[in-house]
Amino acid sequence: MRAPDQNRSVLEAESLRPRLRGDLHFSIQELAGDRVCVIEDRTAWRFHRVGLAEYGFLRALDGRRTVASILAQIARDGGPDAFTEGEALQMVRWLKDNHLLALESDRTTDQNAATERQILGALTWLNPLVAKLPLARPDRFFTAAEAAFRWALGRFGFLVWLAVVLSGATAVAVDWARFDRGFDGILARENWLWLLLAWAGLKIIHELAHGLFCKHFGAAVREIGVIFVLFIPMGYVDASASLGLASKWRRIMVSAAGIYAEFFIAGLAALLWARTPDGLTATIAHNVIFTGTAVTLLLNANPLMRFDGYYILGDLLGLPNLATRGRAFTRSLAARVFLGPRGGTPPALRTREDWIVAAYGLASVLWQTLIFAGLLVAASTALRGGGLLFAAIAGALWLGVPLWQMSRAAARAKGSTLDRLFTIAWRLGILVTLVAALVLVPFRRSVSSPAVIELADTAVLRAECPGFVQFVHVRDGDQVAADQVLVELRNDDVAAQLDRARLDLQQQELRARIAYSRGELAAFQAETAKADTLRDAVAERAKYFATLQVRAPFAGRVTSRQLDHLVGSFIRPGDEIAQLGRAAGSDVRIALDQESAAHFRTAVGAPVRVRIEGGETLDAQLTRVEARATRELIHPALTALAGGPLPLRRAEDDDKKNPYELAEPHFVALAHLGAAQAQIGQLARVKLRTARGVTLWESAQAGFARWLRRHTLRE
Ligand SMILES: [Zn+2]
Repeated sequence: MRAPDQNRSVLEAESLRPRLRGDLHFSIQELAGDRVCVIEDRTAWRFHRVGLAEYGFLRALDGRRTVASILAQIARDGGPDAFTEGEALQMVRWLKDNHLLALESDRTTDQNAATERQILGALTWLNPLVAKLPLARPDRFFTAAEAAFRWALGRFGFLVWLAVVLSGATAVAVDWARFDRGFDGILARENWLWLLLAWAGLKIIHELAHGLFCKHFGAAVREIGVIFVLFIPMGYVDASASLGLASKWRRIMVSAAGIYAEFFIAGLAALLWARTPDGLTATIAHNVIFTGTAVTLLLNANPLMRFDGYYILGDLLGLPNLATRGRAFTRSLAARVFLGPRGGTPPALRTREDWIVAAYGLASVLWQTLIFAGLLVAASTALRGGGLLFAAIAGALWLGVPLWQMSRAAARAKGSTLDRLFTIAWRLGILVTLVAALVLVPFRRSVSSPAVIELADTAVLRAECPGFVQFVHVRDGDQVAADQVLVELRNDDVAAQLDRARLDLQQQELRARIAYSRGELAAFQAETAKADTLRDAVAERAKYFATLQVRAPFAGRVTSRQLDHLVGSFIRPGDEIAQLGRAAGSDVRIALDQESAAHFRTAVGAPVRVRIEGGETLDAQLTRVEARATRELIHPALTALAGGPLPLRRAEDDDKKNPYELAEPHFVALAHLGAAQAQIGQLARVKLRTARGVTLWESAQAGFARWLRRHTLRE
């Protein structure tokens, strides 16, 4: 964690007299045809590998000779790969970083350096992102365990592993929709305990696997304990003795053992999950699958965090100190950026190795920035003010170390103090302004939502009077005239009632006529009034009876998939018989989630772009956004049932006709396509440029809030 001494003059550096610690052990090993030296640091239980040229240089560091004189000696001896000045200084820096040098003599240990070391030490210890707590020395336990599990660590074990992992992956893949549904509410309060247990169990197995493989290949297991990363406790097994293993692939296997074991457990859990109905067991199995694969890949296999993935990558590339060198590179780059030419020049990228180191250094800066930004967004969304305070403290600690180092580098740079401060201030100012602009300036972006094409101005034709379908006069897609009869229903009861009412009316009219012919005026008036009432009743019944003939209310095109199968079926009042759309153009029915609805609502009347799935893009006009969200299937084609984008869930009330409803409520919007030709029923996406600008910060917060809602609420 020390600042590079790049800015010290070469003269000063060459006059250093570093001394290697006396308690280090060296051994020469054969490594893929190369001979390398392994340095064993027994007090820290760490191993380091260096090349033979470096080894020659290291052994010469006795604290009496200066670096310059050692280099001169090596040059005189004239090895084929003599050491350059720069390489020698880099080596000394690396030794210092890994605490392999004996404390330098009083000559160089001034008060400042000691204070700096203390402060850096404190900051590192306080850093909430990584803290380590050793617990026990378990070598004898692993010796016994390895003997018991030896059969599972070899080729036979691998074949079993492969079979379980492959069949588990297949089980999840074939029922992916169910597996995906399992993520709803995975972070809900009642799931915390199970998630924690799954996590803890897997991590224990993970660490045991490291120890077992380490022992299996003949290296010692020195220490186990707990390490806190981003406040998440993770067990660790110090398998660093495996660095002394000569075979690169064995070293990689020890590093990968934890992930290897977790995949196996996840595979078993997947097989169990596929055979259990939804319930507690399936939920726990789901937790284990998720934790044992996705989480372990993100945390343990990620080479940008210093866990298993990092060591695997280092072994694969043959670059064991990738992180240290990567950090040195980004630090020198930062010095150049913030101090200008005074900050020194970053090393030129000459070899493939230089490029890898530089790329790794930049990638880890990017990764840390992403993690930090993610924490900031999450904390500010979930915890409001308190979270922001927490994030500010974490950020200050995190940025504290590099800022301190930068100020040290600045103090060493050439030029007057005022000059340097001025340079740093304006360059830092530009950076802060750029970041603030990126994060806080609103930008208009496009929002896109799933949609389906349907007939314009569609009217749903429903039965008013119940009845059996007797005739269907049209087919799906037919053009019909206004008032044309489309479907005829038959209801004998209603027909009989109408007949009876007509009969009643005839008899009543007869009575009225008789009274008239007898000249009984009062009786005539009474009978006529009764007849009028009956006449109204007949008209009413006739009108009701007429609805058995379903007619087109206007000229247009009929759509209904079921028309052909309708004859003979019984239709209840309110049942849909067919849909009728005006022939001119078509509409786009859009399903909007909460966030898009806010943008679409401000754009009613504005043009939108409609991209037909697998086809052209058309212009349309947004006509309407409904005020209330619905869980009803907006259009069957849009839902997961028909392969559409909207996820479904089982409906809550069972008496509904449809057993499914939308997993998330959506708003319905309509856009008019005009005369443009688009096929009815086709899926599309509707794109809209937001009227109101949104900042990156706001959309990150909204995105996290959505994510949190999905995973904490079991709706
Ligand atoms: Zn591990």
